Amino acid sequence: MRVSEDRYTRDRLRLDLALRLIRHEARTCTIRLWTGLSDDRIRKLYRSYVEERGPSAVRRHRGKSPRQAAYFFRNPETCFQAAQLASLFLLHGLIVAGGGGIESRYRIGAVDSGLLLCRAYEAFVDLHAPARISFEHAWFLLAALAGRAELDLARCTDCGGVRLRDLLARRDPLCAHCGPRPPTAAARVAAGERGLGPLLESARWHDAIRSRAPS
Ligand SMILES: [Zn+2]
Repeated sequence: MRVSEDRYTRDRLRLDLALRLIRHEARTCTIRLWTGLSDDRIRKLYRSYVEERGPSAVRRHRGKSPRQAAYFFRNPETCFQAAQLASLFLLHGLIVAGGGGIESRYRIGAVDSGLLLCRAYEAFVDLHAPARISFEHAWFLLAALAGRAELDLARCTDCGGVRLRDLLARRDPLCAHCGPRPPTAAARVAAGERGLGPLLESARWHDAIRSRAPS
């Protein structure tokens, strides 16, 4: 009896995570990766979600998942938002900043890691209207940081805040906040008013990151 209850709970958690991912307009392959559900089951879930909330509730994305790290450097606002999202990954414990660079702390296919990814993304969306980074790009950002081949986090030489570093190109050592074209005033106000402002201050940034680094 206990075994079947545990199994029921696990199934329930997977379905809840899948619905959350559908709400974030994740692709079927991403939902399958994080939940282990079959494509058929995901399609049924998607249909019931749309039936309940109407076709405009969620858009379905097809094709390949994002793979271009350059996407995050396309303009200062996107770069600014990507650095904030990366910080939320750190604060949610999905990655840590160790002595040798970024280290992954999530497990693909583990429901608790999937939920942390959703929570980090939801916190990000809550801070930005409109958010420039889709869930699929957020997942790509996390994987690229953990992969350590294309992206890294570094310190802005001006404000000391965290900035995204493109490992394949020479980029400005300043963050999007201090760079030649800062993000819109609205984004700065939104970040400050909603509590992300302190994350841009070097001392708190580095405290937050240090506290999550492995000892
Ligand atoms: Zn800066």
